[in-house]
Parts: sequence; structure tokens; C-alpha cells
Amino acid sequence: MSDFLILGQIIDFPDAETIRHHKKGAIVVSAAGKIIWSGPSRKLPKEYAKLNALDHGESLVMPGFIDPHIHFPQYRMLAAPGKDLLDWLTRFTFAEEAQFSDSNHAQRAAKIFLSLLLANGTTSASVFCSSHVESVDALFSIAEQFDMMLIAGKTMMDVNAPDGVRDTARQSYDDSNALIERWHGKQRLQYAITPRFAVTSSAEQLQLAGDLLKANPGMIMQTHLSENHAEIAMVAKQFPKARDYTDVYDSFGLLGSSSLFGHGIHLSDVEKTRLAETGSRIIHCPTSNTFLGSGLFNLKAASDAGIKVGLATDIGGGLSYSMLATMAEGYKVAMLNGYKPTIAQMYHMATLGNAECLNIGGNTGSFDEGKWADIIVLNPQATHIQRFRQQLSENIKDTLFSLMMLGDDRSIMATYVAGKRRFRAAVS
Ligand SMILES: [Zn+2]
Repeated sequence: MSDFLILGQIIDFPDAETIRHHKKGAIVVSAAGKIIWSGPSRKLPKEYAKLNALDHGESLVMPGFIDPHIHFPQYRMLAAPGKDLLDWLTRFTFAEEAQFSDSNHAQRAAKIFLSLLLANGTTSASVFCSSHVESVDALFSIAEQFDMMLIAGKTMMDVNAPDGVRDTARQSYDDSNALIERWHGKQRLQYAITPRFAVTSSAEQLQLAGDLLKANPGMIMQTHLSENHAEIAMVAKQFPKARDYTDVYDSFGLLGSSSLFGHGIHLSDVEKTRLAETGSRIIHCPTSNTFLGSGLFNLKAASDAGIKVGLATDIGGGLSYSMLATMAEGYKVAMLNGYKPTIAQMYHMATLGNAECLNIGGNTGSFDEGKWADIIVLNPQATHIQRFRQQLSENIKDTLFSLMMLGDDRSIMATYVAGKRRFRAAVS
């Protein structure tokens, strides 16, 4: 591969207020898959003018989406009709996850899972695997072939889970260490310390998760927090000495600026303050929250408290791999809380904002020079209704708004990872 040009309507979101848009824009991608230059075509430096160009015309060229909370072993179990979180977990989820002790099953699933991410324009993710090392090995080995910036970890759970998915505290610690040794820092891969949530971990296991984080400062730690009232009640019973749910994780050293807490819907002001002062992130998963009836996350209240918030699909509690559909649901949940997010804010969350939550914002998430060329091409007129709706769009803001509200995987025309095209929509 040699240096080349990507042409189209170039759009990225350097902060939550800004849409950087070049109607006729260009990105120069190096042979090594990094962005050398981006901007309006008329300002393209002469030395790049003769490079081979992939011209996407009027299509929108944006940074790849980033999904900071998704479950690989739930890749096909979307729309399982649970009554609530705990019923959904025990009746459907654990049985499906148990299959990932079989490495052949895990390998087949990893190919499908990562292909689905790419077909939805998602170029990076932070992923919960199952409790089996086989699932992590399978996922990382395929992500490595795709050059993806992928973060993943073995789910740790030693209590309140059936045979087949339950580990022990010591085994989860040893497995995590072996996986860190094998994968962390290999190409663009990073390991994440992954206790599922306080309900399925003993104090000993959470302590060992804290030890892993202490031994690997800056490594992502991902778990769930305050998703559902029955869950919160169970945690209070299991950890009677803790002040609240957040304090359970805090007491084991699990808060901090590389810690991701999925959901965080029903937090007290004390908990929000503690999350904010430790730099901990909340990952909002709106399609999962509405599907499981978990509650309406208050984006504005969390942001006002000083917490950095990411936006994720939470497949398979979530109902769509599409970050466009996830943004639309996040928008609706915010509106139900009386807050109207801006268009730049939602797209920024799904791209650079999520990258910053994962501490990879220096490498991906926007078109700044030196970053990896993780790029998607979108057609805002992919369906009949979108085509008619776009007849009313008078500016890029409205084009992006209606794309967010009406778009899904059909809007994704191409996905580039580190400069290589890894997905291309069938030409209709
Ligand atoms: Zn989750």
C-alpha cells in the first residue's frame, strides 16, 4: 500500500460544540495507515495532489464510531424477552455465554461479531468477553487481523452465576494476568480488567481486580454500576459495610480515570461527586436501558456533576449495533429528562468523546494529523424516507440530525481501519 487520498464531505467533531466540515474535503492517508493531512481540497498541499484518490463524492466521511461498552458473547442474543436485568441474565444470558468455553464456537462468533461492528461503522470498542480465556483469545486474534484498536477482557464472576460461566477469584486473577501478558499492547490491542459487576463477584475477586489495576496503572477497568433497582438492593445486601454501590468499587480501588462504569442510572449525588472527583467514566447505554426498563439516564445531571460520559450499544441488552441508532435513543432519553442535546454533542460522544473515555483520543476519533485513519463513509439518503427527508435539509446540521434519527447500518457505505477498507456496502 502507498499513500493515498480520501475525498468527500469531510466532517469530524473536535469537541462537543464543534462540527468541522469541509464540503469538498480531503484526507491524506499514509502507507502505514495514519492521517498525514486533512482539510479542504482547495488547500491540499501540492506534494499530495497526484496521489491515488478514492472519491466518495457527496457522501459524508467521518471518524469511525467507537463503542465503549459491548458484550461479545451476546453477539446474537439481542431481543431476549427478560422481565428485567436479573431475569434477563439468569434466563437467557448465562446459557449463551457458557458456549464460549469452546474455542471453535468463539472463533466463529468473533468473525461475525467484528464483521457486524465494521458493517455498522464501528472501528474501535471496549468489549466484555465471557469468563473463558478462549473467548478473549478468539476476539483478539481476529481483531489483530483487522488492525483494530480493540480493548477487551475476560469477565470475572465467581458468585451468583451458574456452572459453566462461574470462575473462582484466584482463577480469574491468573487468567487475566496470562491474557495481559499475551495480548496487552500487541499491535493496537489493549486488555481491560473486567469484573462483570458487584453482584457476581466476591469481595476477594473485587480485591484481586483492584490489585490488577494497581499493578497495571492506566489499564482500562470496565464493569456495571447502578443499572436497576433490584440489582442495587442485591449489592447493598452483599456488601453491607459499603456506603452505596459506588463505594463497593471504591473500597477495592476500582475508581479512576481508566475506569468505565456501564449505566450509572440511579446514582445519588454523593456517588456522582465521588465518580467525578476520581475521573471515573459513566458509559450510557440507552437502547439497553429502555429495552430492559432499567431507567432513564440523566445525561445533563451527570455532565453537570463533572462526570465524563460515553455512549454505547451494550449488545445484547442493547437492541442495535448501530451507533446512529444508539445516538437516536440517547437523544430521546435525554429529551424525556427535559434536556435537548446538540447535534455536535451526540456525534462527538460517538466518536472522539468515546475515544477520550477510553483514553485513546490521541490515536483515533478525529481527523487530526498523526492519528490512525479509522474512517467511515455514510450515505444520509440510504433509504427511501431518508432520501425524501434530505430534500428538506438546508444545512449540514440538519443533514446530520436526520441521519442520526433515521440512520442505521444501511447508512454505512465503507469502513476503513488503519487506512485499509475492511467493509464496503453492496452497491444497490
Ligand atoms: Zn453491559
